[in-house]
Amino acid sequence: MLLASNNRYSASDDMPRNATVQQALLWATSVLSAAGVPSPRLDAEVLLAHALEWKRARLYARPEWKLTADQQQSFQSFVERRHCREPVPYIIGHREFYGLDFIVDRRVLIPRPETELLVERALETAGCLGKDRLILADIGTGSGIIAVSLAIHLPDATVYATDAFAEALEVAACNIARHHLSHQVHLLLGDLLQPLPERINIIVANLPYVSVEHLASAPPDMVAYEPLAALDGGPDGLVHIRRLLTQAGQWLLPGGAILLEVGADQGQEVTEFAAQHYPGAKIELFQDYAGLDRIVRIQT
Ligand code: GLN
Repeated sequence: MLLASNNRYSASDDMPRNATVQQALLWATSVLSAAGVPSPRLDAEVLLAHALEWKRARLYARPEWKLTADQQQSFQSFVERRHCREPVPYIIGHREFYGLDFIVDRRVLIPRPETELLVERALETAGCLGKDRLILADIGTGSGIIAVSLAIHLPDATVYATDAFAEALEVAACNIARHHLSHQVHLLLGDLLQPLPERINIIVANLPYVSVEHLASAPPDMVAYEPLAALDGGPDGLVHIRRLLTQAGQWLLPGGAILLEVGADQGQEVTEFAAQHYPGAKIELFQDYAGLDRIVRIQT
């Protein structure tokens, strides 16, 4: 196995035969921690729970349970993948976002907790607009997390979700079907707003915004596994955001709003660019849980 081929380990580092839950966790935690994985114990628990098809809490209730040969084999292969820095959500195939469970794989970006703030602000904006039949668009939907979360919380709204990549839309389609929203969320293939069939009340977008410089120093989990097209925002990270802001005015219904997720160092620049293109609009910058600039809202 991989550990044996890595010079820092010998074959004796293989997981003990007939390991119990407790032994398996200790083994995996030490393997992942030696590989520099940032949260080795947590990852070991999540991967073991997945291999056993248990809830994570049950690991604590049954520490003496002995893994079957099949369970042991699956767990070892999950740990090997994590050891190579594959992100946990890709290994287990799903990720929670805004209290909902989403299918994810390497065709789409892994949902980040800060994007929940984008959903929260969009829902707040929808509440303020107070119309019966709102039309929303999630531009660059990826796995569909934003479109699905908005649709669940705004059951009377129509939600369009666009993406330039058909393979990302396949994942979004699974998530929309999984949450029984096929009647409400409409997937459209194409560049930014171009595939939209009508004008919109609220445009929401978490576009790729990572700059070349930040990509170069990003953790291996991200650059080696997540789709580059979902991260890469060009030299300063703002290529797609600027294109969207340039085009969005003509797609907005009167009184409409645009909400964008931006990089921590882009808030100022994006608000200034928005002010030039939307004179008279109310433009706000909101911070994430870490206190970093993260969301720009433009209300026309
Ligand atoms: N939030 C992601 C990061 O880790 C970037 C997501 C995006 O480009 N939209 O930087």
